[in-house]
Amino acid sequence: MKLNNLHLENFRNYGELFAAFDKGVNLIVGDNAQGKTNLLEAIAFLGSGRAFRTQKTAELVHFGAEFAQIEGSVFSQEREQSLRWVLFSGQRPRQLYRNGVKKKTAGEIAGVMQTVLFCPEDLTVLKGGASGRRRLADAALCQLRPNYEAALTEYSRILEQKSRILKDRYENTALLEILPEYNARLCQVGALLISYRARFFEGLGREASVYHGHFSGGKEEFSLVYRTVSTVEDPFAPVSQLEDNLKAHLESHYRAELESGQCLTGPHKDDFDVFLSDLPVKAFGSQGQTRTATISLKLAQRQLMKKEAGQTPILLLDDVLSELDPARQDFVLNQITDGQVFITCCEPGRFTELGTTIEIKQGNIIKN
Ligand code: ATP
Ligand code: MG
Repeated sequence: MKLNNLHLENFRNYGELFAAFDKGVNLIVGDNAQGKTNLLEAIAFLGSGRAFRTQKTAELVHFGAEFAQIEGSVFSQEREQSLRWVLFSGQRPRQLYRNGVKKKTAGEIAGVMQTVLFCPEDLTVLKGGASGRRRLADAALCQLRPNYEAALTEYSRILEQKSRILKDRYENTALLEILPEYNARLCQVGALLISYRARFFEGLGREASVYHGHFSGGKEEFSLVYRTVSTVEDPFAPVSQLEDNLKAHLESHYRAELESGQCLTGPHKDDFDVFLSDLPVKAFGSQGQTRTATISLKLAQRQLMKKEAGQTPILLLDDVLSELDPARQDFVLNQITDGQVFITCCEPGRFTELGTTIEIKQGNIIKN
């Protein structure tokens, strides 16, 4: 899949922008705070309806403007397609159009334009807290499986309501009567999440171990273990069994949740561990090992999407190449010779040889 051109109106620091892109490597250069990452954010949003830096749509609208537009023409599924989003600064719901036809949800454009983002924060994801790893997995899974995105949205909604019930339990004791209903629904939807995640992590681990094997010259063995609620013995079990497992766990935590006033347990706490030759990266990985393992994970995500969708997703490298040593830079660049790539950097250096350069200054493209 290739993004041929993009039209932005009042998106972040852009007033109006028309850009045409190369089908290979696009190098986005410019000083700090000129709009390089904003451009990648717009590209990622166009295909997914998700912004990687915020959950608040209004933040994407240019300060003081009422609405923003992101419009692009994509070659995908063997034809030219257009996508257009209109985002509002107020309460009005966002609008989505595919080939001029209005769509209700991002799920209806799933597979049209997939992106994989790789940024410097990813380099610490294996060492940091579980929420970063969940975000990484969710961003990939939501693009791969529209039903997963729907389930995740539903789960978050129920969880938020349950949190409110637990918070107000003393002021309004009648709320406790409806708590079991929420718990039952959480188990139902949570079981679906676990089922999707088990399959995703299996594929991701398999692909990543190939890349890591290449880079380490076969010296280190990469493996990935999915961690979920302790009563789930087999995350590949039928969804009804997972639901029972979750119920058992919630029941055993019922008192503790009431006492603490918090949702203590469930797939919203899921995590995964990466091991190199049986040692967990989180505790024992050197900086170099951790970086290589992360690169392998990102390349694996791209490969998995490519296999599933039959087309290579668009790769967005935000300031990450300049963070890597030459050997790791070459490794990434050699693995991504197919497909479209957007690379942002302040000092292009040797990267200018890779493809077309687009210079950004204060939300405008500078013509060379
Ligand atoms: P760096 O090299 O430091 O990463 P960058 O070119 O990637 O810089 P961006 O992250 O794209 O910079 O941000 C550019 C500017 O956009 C920031 O100064 C920010 O204040 C501004 N900005 C963000 N959101 C909005 C908005 N809604 N309206 C107007 N400006 C915004
Ligand atoms: Mg940036």
